[in-house]
Amino acid sequence: MSHRQRIVVANWKANLPPGEEVALAGDIATELARQHDVAAPMSVEVLLAPSHLALVAVTSHLRREHPTIGIGTVAQDVSAAEAGAHTGESPALHLLGIADGVIVGHSERRRERGETDRVVGAKLARVVAAGMRPILCLGDDVRDGGGAERAAVLELQWTAALVSAAEHGVDRDALVASGLVVAYEPVWAIGSGRPATPETASAAATIIRNAASADLPILYGGSVEAGGAAAYVASRGEGGGRIDGLLVGGASLRASKFVEIVTAVRTSVGAG
Ligand code: PEP
Repeated sequence: MSHRQRIVVANWKANLPPGEEVALAGDIATELARQHDVAAPMSVEVLLAPSHLALVAVTSHLRREHPTIGIGTVAQDVSAAEAGAHTGESPALHLLGIADGVIVGHSERRRERGETDRVVGAKLARVVAAGMRPILCLGDDVRDGGGAERAAVLELQWTAALVSAAEHGVDRDALVASGLVVAYEPVWAIGSGRPATPETASAAATIIRNAASADLPILYGGSVEAGGAAAYVASRGEGGGRIDGLLVGGASLRASKFVEIVTAVRTSVGAG
């Protein structure tokens, strides 16, 4: 049994108006408190990623109404620019004190917003320089291809982001020391109802750790439902790739479903 901290992140994207996001955060906190002994520190770190519009309200609500449960928040994205004359942007420095971390390089931003590895690297650098923890999303579009193809995509994404972060003043050591978490999110599995197998996720975790030369915490994300959640954190696929938690989209929009996933992870690692 591993005593590593497991992490479950809810990514709400732009699905709900802010008032509903605050209500959902409250429902999740209430349900988690009901099911778990919150007097003891939870072995699963629960992080909610509301929209930017709701980030302050959700964080304040959790701190005020559910101070003991320890649910954190992360931003879904961040500006690649520093604070200053950048209309409409949300710089990392301004997220400090509000969110516990920032999701960087989600595939929806890469695909819909044309976010390149270079931009992803710049954002990583901003987050680390601000003293925050990045959650870097990497993911292939290689559903049926071999492991070699998947490895090539993941290694390229990692290396390109690393080079760009270094150009923006944050080197590999600083990145790893920031508490960097990587989420393996295959593009074909996100929102498709066709999750990657735990073995594929484990193999990807091995590829990413080898590329990084570091024992990074790695999450899996892509169509996770409560029924399949435990298998990811329990699995040790080819190369023994460990999955430390989950990034959950659609199934995090209902409090009961999301709490079921947290409970499945918590139970599967056999700790409190
Ligand atoms: C995501 O978009 O990060 C995600 C994991 O979504 P879903 O769970 O809906 O596939």
